[in-house]
Amino acid sequence: MNVAEETIFSKIIRREIPSEMLYQDELVSVFRDINPVAPTHVLIVPNKLIPTVDDIEAEDEAAMGRMLSVAKKIAREEGISEDGYRLIINCKEHGNQEVMHIHMHLVGGRPLGGMLKRESS
Ligand code: AMP
Repeated sequence: MNVAEETIFSKIIRREIPSEMLYQDELVSVFRDINPVAPTHVLIVPNKLIPTVDDIEAEDEAAMGRMLSVAKKIAREEGISEDGYRLIINCKEHGNQEVMHIHMHLVGGRPLGGMLKRESS
């Protein structure tokens, strides 16, 4: 069995390195993205190191569900609930995942446009 390597997110979760932490409970942590693409850009992360969506197991369902309910709460606190926002989880190479610790981007505060560019025909 492969042991997943820790990323910088584990250190942020344990507060060993600084971040702008907005919320933390026994399952998830929420902190601002260091390189925001919109007025609100936060990362919602399971405290447990799960590298990618492809590694989720049945025992992780509570944390995955908590990520969504905490997204709703943070969006309300950020004042973006009424206009809406986008939740993004990148997975592996084709998903352009850079940090191998599952994280959900909560992005909003401006119109975000279409989801993906279509390949030109
Ligand atoms: P992804 O491409 O989905 O793996 O996204 C990784 C995200 O993590 C990027 O949006 C980065 O800006 C963000 N990021 C990387 N290092 C940090 C950090 N130390 N604190 C906050 N966000 C970070």
